[in-house]
Amino acid sequence: MPAPAIMRRDVRELALEELEREVVAEGERTFRARQIMRWLWGVGAESFDAMRDIPAALRARLSQRFTADLPRTTASRAEDGTCKLLLTLAGNEAIESVIIPADRRLTLCLSTQVGCAMACEFCATAQMGLHRNLTAAEIAGQILVARREITADDRFTNFVFMGMGEPLANYPRLARALKIISADWGLGISPRRITVSTVGLITGMETLMADFQVNLAVSLHATTDEVRSRIMPINQRFPIADLLAACARLPIARRNRITFEYVMLAGMNDSPEDAARLIKLLRPLRAKINLLFFNPFPGSRFKPSARATVEDFLAVLRQGNLTATLRESRGRDIAAACGQLYAERGPQQHQPESAVESRQGRGEGARPGVGPKDQAGRIH
Ligand code: SF4
Repeated sequence: MPAPAIMRRDVRELALEELEREVVAEGERTFRARQIMRWLWGVGAESFDAMRDIPAALRARLSQRFTADLPRTTASRAEDGTCKLLLTLAGNEAIESVIIPADRRLTLCLSTQVGCAMACEFCATAQMGLHRNLTAAEIAGQILVARREITADDRFTNFVFMGMGEPLANYPRLARALKIISADWGLGISPRRITVSTVGLITGMETLMADFQVNLAVSLHATTDEVRSRIMPINQRFPIADLLAACARLPIARRNRITFEYVMLAGMNDSPEDAARLIKLLRPLRAKINLLFFNPFPGSRFKPSARATVEDFLAVLRQGNLTATLRESRGRDIAAACGQLYAERGPQQHQPESAVESRQGRGEGARPGVGPKDQAGRIH
């Protein structure tokens, strides 16, 4: 009889060498650990019983000490192809992951915390405050459950840590998750396909870029300290000049650039003067800038900039020789602003008409796909 789940550890927390030690302690050879990893991360098995090529005695002993289940998932699909997943975790907490189809890309947006402590004024997640950090297994496990929502023919092309939470405020667990995600015994995903987004925690950025060859996105969102401090309290700790100086020192791979995110807020940061300042700030860096449409949510005090304003802003940046792109806002009909789905419905009440209960755990295979179509707007 297994111990109660609360006493058992999530086996997906373990790195290969740790699992090898576990199986050796159970009197088995180390290769069993790789077999188990294939079941956990390749197949997405949710019980040791499903691991048919593992000796029954080892399965029984491991299941007494470890769990292998994944979060329960509810999917909401927008007309534009965006698919938002609400994952219910232990303790009845919930997080969001979003599948974003683009022209030739299928991006998965991942969370790293339940809520967030960064208090960015334009963000729905900020209204929750920080509930807790996600574990490494919960961070990486989002990829497993999201895979069940796409067709067998589809593959995620990009993984962006732009969901709930500030990734670098949960660095030890993020780092363990990145190891699992990129390892050949884990999910085998190239770090080049992964982007970590941050409000600009300088020490964390430096550690991340020393440890992993992932892409970095920095939420800038303003061109003066006065405005940035108003909309992003972190700016009082790491003002713009310090942040950009730190960015200039980062060991970014030769052909890479840092992406700067800039959400367009009407009357706040969208003037021609802002565009001119942005050029001046970013020109010395190997940078590209993503302009985002603001996705309003209940209680937000900002309005999105008019499309013409955004397009004029974009044109000025390009005339200033900045590499600049514009991301459309997506998934409005399913409350796709970061944290909005949770904030509006909560983990218990969430059951929108368009939502479909995930088939995971019921032995069914691929879901009706979200075909590659367009690009989504995120704020983080
Ligand atoms: S934008 Fe990101 S860092 Fe800021 S409050 Fe929202 S989730 Fe946190």
